[in-house]
Amino acid sequence: MQRMWAPWRIGYIVGDRQADCVFCRKIESDDDEGNHVLLRGEQNVILLNTYPYNSGHLMVVPHEHVGILVDLPIETQVELWKLTELAVRALSEALYPEGFNIGMNIGQAAGAGISDHLHMHIVPRWSGDTNYMTAVAETRVVPQSLDDSFKQLKPIIDRLAEKDTAAS
Ligand SMILES: [Zn+2]
Repeated sequence: MQRMWAPWRIGYIVGDRQADCVFCRKIESDDDEGNHVLLRGEQNVILLNTYPYNSGHLMVVPHEHVGILVDLPIETQVELWKLTELAVRALSEALYPEGFNIGMNIGQAAGAGISDHLHMHIVPRWSGDTNYMTAVAETRVVPQSLDDSFKQLKPIIDRLAEKDTAAS
């Protein structure tokens, strides 16, 4: 990753906020397979949620550590949406979901787990997947392991991304 010398960003880069952020750590890391990072765009990444709500629960995360949309450049927002749509196509091809929940929880009050670094959730849904376990124990049975999901989705996402790049 190329870096510009930008002294006013030093506090931002080395600050506790950034060091503590699981998304920043994964974006900085080279271990995409270990971190389940499926695709690196120009301004965003697609990765598997470590604590999935369902099999194939993906997230699109901007490189920038910002908690509110207004702080995110419009080009980044555009790519965030393009990668969200790409994730939907990949999941449709891999897992045949019957529906999707797509969205952001912005701020702790809205239920954001990591409120300092905004992120888009893409959750594939099947009828009947809200099962007894969820209602009773607030626990979900997620049948596919993260490693298996990664191995299944990675080649599909790479192929779709290549096709999109060629078309643009
Ligand atoms: Zn962050």
